[in-house]
Amino acid sequence: MAEEATFKCLRCGHEFKMPFDPKGPLVERACPKCQSNSVRRMKEEQKK
Ligand SMILES: [Zn+2]
Repeated sequence: MAEEATFKCLRCGHEFKMPFDPKGPLVERACPKCQSNSVRRMKEEQKK
């Protein structure tokens, strides 16, 4: 089951959500705003 993870672009600071499969292969992600691939995954919101 794919979950959503929040990513942040280190270049322009844009934050966006993408489907993220922890068991899937590593996928290169690019910022939808500036197309930079300097994207870091942010920590998920804590589940209550
Ligand atoms: Zn960006």
